[in-house]
Amino acid sequence: MSSADVTVVVVGSCMTDLVSQAPRLPKAGETVHGHKFFIGFGGKGANQCVQASRLGAKTAMVCKLGQDVFGNNYLQNFKDQGVTTDFVSQTGEAATGAASIIVNDQGENAIVIVAGANLLLDVEDLKKASLAISTARVLVCQLEITPAVSLQALKMARNSGVRTIFNPAPAAAELDPEFYSSSDVFCCNESEAELLTGFEVTDEEMAGKAAVVLLSRGCHSVIVTLGVKGCLMVSVQDATPKHIPVGSVPAVDTTGAGDSFVGALAFFMAHVPDLPLEEMARRSNQIAAVSVQAAGTQTSYPSRDALPHELF
Ligand code: ATP
Repeated sequence: MSSADVTVVVVGSCMTDLVSQAPRLPKAGETVHGHKFFIGFGGKGANQCVQASRLGAKTAMVCKLGQDVFGNNYLQNFKDQGVTTDFVSQTGEAATGAASIIVNDQGENAIVIVAGANLLLDVEDLKKASLAISTARVLVCQLEITPAVSLQALKMARNSGVRTIFNPAPAAAELDPEFYSSSDVFCCNESEAELLTGFEVTDEEMAGKAAVVLLSRGCHSVIVTLGVKGCLMVSVQDATPKHIPVGSVPAVDTTGAGDSFVGALAFFMAHVPDLPLEEMARRSNQIAAVSVQAAGTQTSYPSRDALPHELF
């Protein structure tokens, strides 16, 4: 696939998840014996890109990895997932982003994230990907890389008429106002909505109020994901909050559900662009609800052939 065929470009992060399961979390200076260890592919940008790719989007990832074994493995993971890697670069100046995660038997966790090479992705890297960014149908960004680089990518896409999804995660209290005006769809979860508006987003009503405030800052549409309750949306055409519930499913592991939702939304915006956003959000709910029924992050994301064909 050449970069000109790409429909969804994700500019964002890659993290290697190093997960240890132990009876309890160690105290400072303590060593505890765990009973399971595994390595997973994570990072919000990469997760969203892989979900869009699994649904059939022609995706490209713009990101930076370290010149290390984790970086080499991540590059291969993108290839295995059908993601174009022309704009995945490796640096010797920092390690591949990593999240060291300890989970205790109660399901509580302690996590150290080292963004590493992700923070070295810069505007020069965007320039190398400018053709793909300007000819894609949808561009997706988050906040796990340098925010100015995300903003620049959103602006490049917008200037070329490419639709944008901005996922302000991880949550930041302060956001450059241009993030709002550069977002066709501003998609956040409850805690991000809370931090950005100062509202206590405890129920759908408060989520709706927060969404209206976010909309007033200049984005075209706002979606707030609500976990087991689905999501809600507002748009400039209709600023009355619309709740879009999700069906009840036996949830096993909700890690990365938000990224599955965003990746699915990117797929629908790129490949079924005439669908109303509300219907895209309803279908994205259904896809994210499948992801919570299996363990892991990218490993839990459904492929197109495992989903009902009415979704497409
Ligand atoms: P994470 O940080 O774990 O990726 P998030 O907080 O960003 O998640 P959520 O709002 O928890 O995102 O979930 C995103 C979407 O996943 C929801 O809008 C919904 O569609 C789906 N989802 C999450 N939890 C469940 C659940 N228990 N049952 C069904 N669907 C769910």
